[in-house]
Amino acid sequence: MSNELEGLMLGELPPKERMKVPRQQMPEQDPGERSRNFREVPRGLTPEQAVKEAQRCLQCKKPLCMNGCPVEVDIPGFIKLVTQGKFTEAAWKIKETNSLPAVCGRVCPQEEQCEGVCVLTKKYTSIAVGHLERFVADWEREHNEMKVPEIAPTSGKKVAIVGSGPAGLTVAGDLIKMGHKVTVFEALHREGGVLVYGIPEFRLPKSIVQAEVDFLAEMGVEFKTSYVIGKIRDIDELFEDGFDAVFIGTGAGLPNFMGVEGENLNGIYSANEYLTRSNLMRAFDADAEGTPIMPGKKVVVLGGGNTAMDSVRTGLRLGADEATIVYRRSRNEMPARIEEIHHAEQEGIKFHFLTAPIRFIGDENGWVKQMECIQMELGEPDSSGRRRPVPIEGSNFTMDVDTVVIAIGNSSNPLIPKTTSGLDTNRWGNIVADERGKTSRPGVWAGGDIVTGGATVILAAGAGKKAARAIDEYLRSL
Ligand SMILES: Cc1cc2nc3c(=O)[nH]c(=O)nc-3n(C[C@H](O)[C@H](O)[C@H](O)COP(=O)(O)OP(=O)(O)OC[C@H]3O[C@@H](n4cnc5c(N)ncnc54)[C@H](O)[C@@H]3O)c2cc1C
Ligand code: SF4
Repeated sequence: MSNELEGLMLGELPPKERMKVPRQQMPEQDPGERSRNFREVPRGLTPEQAVKEAQRCLQCKKPLCMNGCPVEVDIPGFIKLVTQGKFTEAAWKIKETNSLPAVCGRVCPQEEQCEGVCVLTKKYTSIAVGHLERFVADWEREHNEMKVPEIAPTSGKKVAIVGSGPAGLTVAGDLIKMGHKVTVFEALHREGGVLVYGIPEFRLPKSIVQAEVDFLAEMGVEFKTSYVIGKIRDIDELFEDGFDAVFIGTGAGLPNFMGVEGENLNGIYSANEYLTRSNLMRAFDADAEGTPIMPGKKVVVLGGGNTAMDSVRTGLRLGADEATIVYRRSRNEMPARIEEIHHAEQEGIKFHFLTAPIRFIGDENGWVKQMECIQMELGEPDSSGRRRPVPIEGSNFTMDVDTVVIAIGNSSNPLIPKTTSGLDTNRWGNIVADERGKTSRPGVWAGGDIVTGGATVILAAGAGKKAARAIDEYLRSL
């Protein structure tokens, strides 16, 4: 910012001048230091920075940013509260439509959503909506100002929620406020779904998710962990146990594999297994008992999405000398968030673009030691609209590896559809549900990745909100 502008209340500047004020930069851990620890990378805005950033907002009469938000957060409304220093009230404003702002402020792809369509983007830099969202949500939590919502008189109705990811947690929070009794069944030993087992600590500290879970528990939500529905009890039995409705939010946690020779060698993991071992079983923590991972020195991750970036950056932090992404398209087609790619590059992650594995080679003890690859070029666009990678004949080469992580996407686990009568699924195994989450089975709703396939946190939470309203109407009609 120029000296001229320094010291002025930005809000007093005419909009034309205000637009030119650069976006506030969030302080971050130094790349050299952070590539060897699991602490969060961005440190968050200071209160002064948050107010300055909020003052850049033009408070548009027709706020384009809201069109880009899947749950229609009142973005100018909460930003205005920030300019007034009303940080907790700003968090409450967001929570009117999004129950998980501390999570979404950290992991939502804002550059494709609200920030991508902010009016300032055309000529200048967009308002840092995500950084402001994170700031106010952290402020509310750190100052113990989490608002205990009013809870409606008890309805006497019971709802079972299967899965405790963002979809399940959102449904739980909304239905308990509406006066229903809520029990969440979670297969793993900790609540939070991908937010705890998939996304690493350096992007989303587990304590933030735990605070949300604790808050729901305080409001009366009952959590039953290590409880696999479809094994311990199935959906039909939940109704026999007295539940009046069921919400299925079981995500898309079944890893896809490549079907390449040697894929079952030791040292080759699915990203789900690798990240779960590190995040949930604390493989990164030297003090944790029975650290369940072999720390590799030459780690290669196959894929180009958020899961691949999380895996490769985890590999580096677990002590790899070399951590490499191998991706069959180019950097432009990578589905990972730009911020994550940028952070990975800063940390020294290597990238092999336009490269695909065709064979894994093992040593005499069955451990992977090399990967044979082929180079690709981009051909015509495929059904996803992205240019199809085509192998270049004779371009084979080998790479030395000791750990390979396969991060090429997930599908839905068939356990619940298989054990539930009358529940329709589509050809990918996702549960079929209408836009309010209603399934073909009376009394059963579904939402999040189990319906859409792998998507985003905010879409899962948004689906949860819609389903909660529909379940409430249903329960009141019984
Ligand atoms: C590594 C990784 C990184 C990601 N990064 C981002 C990101 O940066 N930004 C973003 O927006 N999205 C990201 N995503 C996607 C996002 O996390 C998901 O879209 C979102 O978590 C889906 O929420 P959900 O509630 O539908 O399911 P999930 O979060 O998958 O939760 C489902 C829960 O159901 C439980 N469950 C499954 N079956 C059963 C059963 N039979 N009985 C009981 N419980 C069961 C599972 O154990 C799990 O805890 C990422 C995904 C991964 C894997
Ligand atoms: S479009 Fe941008 S400038 Fe306009 S209200 Fe939204 S965040 Fe503020």
